This record gives sequence, C-alpha cells and structure tokens, in this order.
Amino acid sequence: MISMSEVQKHFGALHVLQDINLEVPAGQVVIVVGPSGSGKSTLCRTINRLEPIDSGEIRVDGKVLPAEGKALAALRADVGMVFQSFNLFAHKTILENVMLAPVKVRRKGKNDAKEQALQLLDRVGIANQAEKYPAQLSGGQQQRVAIARALAMSPKVMLFDEPTSALDPEMVQEVLDVMTSLAREGMTMLVVTHEMGFARKAGNRVLFMADGQIVEDTDPDTFFTAPKSARAQDFLGKIL
Ligand code: ATP
Ligand code: MG
Repeated sequence: MISMSEVQKHFGALHVLQDINLEVPAGQVVIVVGPSGSGKSTLCRTINRLEPIDSGEIRVDGKVLPAEGKALAALRADVGMVFQSFNLFAHKTILENVMLAPVKVRRKGKNDAKEQALQLLDRVGIANQAEKYPAQLSGGQQQRVAIARALAMSPKVMLFDEPTSALDPEMVQEVLDVMTSLAREGMTMLVVTHEMGFARKAGNRVLFMADGQIVEDTDPDTFFTAPKSARAQDFLGKIL
C-alpha cells in the first residue's frame, strides 16, 4: 500500500532520509520510533508530499504522487494525516471541520457529507459535540475530531505523527483507543509514537530510525525485548 524505494532527501547539507526502502502492505500497522531528529516526521511528510524528495520513488496504492496541482490534491486525499497539533479550523464547528474537505475536495453533496461526518464523530465518540467549536473541547476530544476529519476523505492510508504527545496524560488513552479500533478494522497505518503499550497492542511492525536510516525493522515484541543494534538499546534504555 505504501512503497518507498531508494528515497533520498536533504535539508541543505543534512542528509535527512538516507536510501529509505520500505514496503507497507495493506492493513499493516507500522510503528516508527527513534531519537529526536532521526527523520521520523520527515518520513511521514514525504509520503503525502508535504515534503518533496530529492530522488527515489514513493507510491501509495501503486500510484506515484504527482508533483503539484489538482492531481496531487486528489491523490493526497488518499493519505490521511494526524499531527501532534490538531490544526482544526477555530472558527468552524466540529461538524463543519469534518465536512469541509469532502465537500471541497471530493465534491460530496452537503447532506451526504453531513451524514458521514456525524457517523465519523460517533465512531470517535464525540457525536454530541458536533455543534461546538474546537476551543470548547478538550485536547483529547480535538484530536479525535482531527482523526474523524482525516477519515472523512476515505483515505487508504493514515499517517500519525506523535498524535498524543501534546495531550494531558489522562487524554492519551481515549485517542489511542480510537487508533486501536482503526487498526483492528484493517486501516493501513504509519504511526510515529513512543507509546509502547499501543505499539505492542496495535502494531504489527516497528521501524527504528536513527540518523535518517531505518536501523531496525522487526515485530514489536522483538524490538522492545531484544533490540539488536546498540543505537536501539540505548534509545530504549532512555524511554522505558
Ligand atoms: P522529533 O522526534 O524531534 O520529532 P524527528 O525524528 O521527527 O524528530 P524530523 O522532524 O524528521 O525528526 O527532522 C529530522 C532532521 O531534519 C532534524 O535535524 C531537523 O532539524 C531537520 N529538519 C526538519 N525539517 C526541516 C526543514 N524544513 N528545514 C531544515 N531542516 C529540517
Ligand atoms: Mg517529529
């Protein structure tokens, strides 16, 4: 579903992605971990072309993302992304936030979009907040809206970049629960997170990144109990 081959990217002199080769089959949940600055966010951002790459190829569902224009917007819609910051539109209601992209980009009718948005808000457990504005919701609730908003585009892949790291501790689990059920329903997911409980429960595979490279690529149990590289052992020693 996601295919990266020989992907290279620099920021000036910094070689931030060094020959990334990655195949993520449909339905797989891939956890990405690694030290700060190792390239995790950049990896995610290249997949929907928020960051262009220098060379190599990235395919989503067999298609190379076009460089720009309408074709990029259409294909980008296949890749949902949820960030640390929720980035909801402050002046729009929760319902409007979730309806917006399907109406504008997918050209969905307003009634259809509304019905779908309400279903999605129900699925993430906040249908009763539909008429409120983002500032009236807790961080955990806003992040669940952000997930619903991404799902409204019927993406083929969902990318999560540290979706719980800006949340108060008591709100982390409600967001992880939504992500866990999404994983169980068969969504293809790439998740940058240091939430080890989630990684072990919902993840099929762990990528450990260091200095722009994928240093380990294994199953969660092996990674967390018996990491091979010294870099990963050192990293786990700091976070566990
Ligand atoms: P963190 O765990 O702190 O989120 P990360 O693994 O997500 O780190 P990236 O955000 O991908 O790391 O950044 C990788 C490297 O690229 C860092 O050294 C960062 O400073 C650099 N970098 C990221 N974005 C840019 C940019 N737009 N311009 C220049 N350098 C950048
Ligand atoms: Mg990051």
